[in-house]
Amino acid sequence: TVVTRFAPSPTGFLHVGGARTALYSWLYAKSQGGKFVLRIEDTDIERSTQEAIDAILEGMQWLGLEWDSGPFYQTKRFERYNQVIDQLLLEGKAYKCFMPAAELDAIREEQMNKGEKPRYPGTWRDRTDHPEGQPFAIRFKTPQTGSVIVKDHIRGNIEIANTELDDLIIRRSDGVPTYNFCVVIDDWDMDITHVVRGEDHINNTPRQINILQALGAPIPEYAHVSMILGDDGKKLSKRHGAVSVMQYRDDGYLPQALLNYLVRLGWSHGDQEIFSLDEMIKLFDLDSIGQSASAFNTDKLVWLNQHYIRSLPVSEVAGYAKWHFAEQGIDLSQGPALEDVIAVQAERVKNLKELAQISRYFYEDYEEFDADAAKKHLRPVAKDALVAVQAKLAALTQWNTQTIHDAINQAAEDLGVGMGKVGMPLRVAVTGSGNSPSLDATLNLLKPEQIEQRINKALE
Ligand code: GLU
Repeated sequence: TVVTRFAPSPTGFLHVGGARTALYSWLYAKSQGGKFVLRIEDTDIERSTQEAIDAILEGMQWLGLEWDSGPFYQTKRFERYNQVIDQLLLEGKAYKCFMPAAELDAIREEQMNKGEKPRYPGTWRDRTDHPEGQPFAIRFKTPQTGSVIVKDHIRGNIEIANTELDDLIIRRSDGVPTYNFCVVIDDWDMDITHVVRGEDHINNTPRQINILQALGAPIPEYAHVSMILGDDGKKLSKRHGAVSVMQYRDDGYLPQALLNYLVRLGWSHGDQEIFSLDEMIKLFDLDSIGQSASAFNTDKLVWLNQHYIRSLPVSEVAGYAKWHFAEQGIDLSQGPALEDVIAVQAERVKNLKELAQISRYFYEDYEEFDADAAKKHLRPVAKDALVAVQAKLAALTQWNTQTIHDAINQAAEDLGVGMGKVGMPLRVAVTGSGNSPSLDATLNLLKPEQIEQRINKALE
């Protein structure tokens, strides 16, 4: 069975590039009925933080990218790595290197001066005159002939001559196994069949394959995903605005929109733009991921977010919107069901943060009128209109959009004015602003007493 993994280093939050890699990896597993593993690559103890681990898990959970096993932590697996290193030493596939750092630096400098690629010359590869009590690193014996072929789903076959690769350190002199080695052992132990990761790792791949081969481990298939660029063509970074997945949550995006956006950032299926999660799972394949870098396009993300706010079941949108109301201190117990508010507001908003912002009046009395709206429609007070409509509304024995609509109509007719002359002052009186869904729908979600009170306030 297919087993994929997402293996972030916890040195920062989950950013959109990482989220896309995670999504592709997750989708491929799901599309093949396989398993998805989460592994935290925390061997860089100085740069890894618990805060970053929590942020990554939170981001994954918010996106709904659930893992079938893990999270595994590399720092908890040192014993295993050391066990394999001992085995490699025993089999003569790795060796102790006593070269002091200063000596290696000098060699490298000389190589660079000669215009050569700096590389460790294999000094200790076959030496047996090991000094007593000296610190040593452990290096892997890279084959000295032949080549490695990386079979990549996105980039095709890449062949690298082994003479290009030097004997890499698998355990530093401080006793800590190195990153490339841990990845190999993990991918092996976790039965990873497909490695989906950023193209910045492509240079590690031939080295990792050599180690896997030395261990007699199966070689996974690879898919190295291209970078994401900002809309200015530079590598996506904080300069381009939100890059943390949770920042998108804070900004009012639905995970469905972000997932749909991310899947299309480098992968396509004809010219289809909208993919439900089920469709993504059904249609996703590694071979249709593009080779070129993809440019981030916020407008498209906004468009997708609007699409999902309008088309997902209201209860689902409500589940995500709640957080934003709480965040803005709006007490949802003090008004209509959130689902009903979403039903009337969905067409009017770009994101959930805005939804909460423009829906406050359903849950609490506004503090002040919007100045422009009041000036235009209410001040000097539109007394006749408000008094008339207040009386009509107060007389209603049934409270629904139809009766409300008729009451407003009647008031306007009695006064011999157009609907707007009654409707606009009423809208400002009830919502505090000049913008709201249709008046009958808005009023219908409020209680008659609230309307009465707010009109009184506007009449002051
Ligand atoms: N830990 C690496 C990173 O965060 C990923 C390594 C891998 O996927 O093999 O960039």
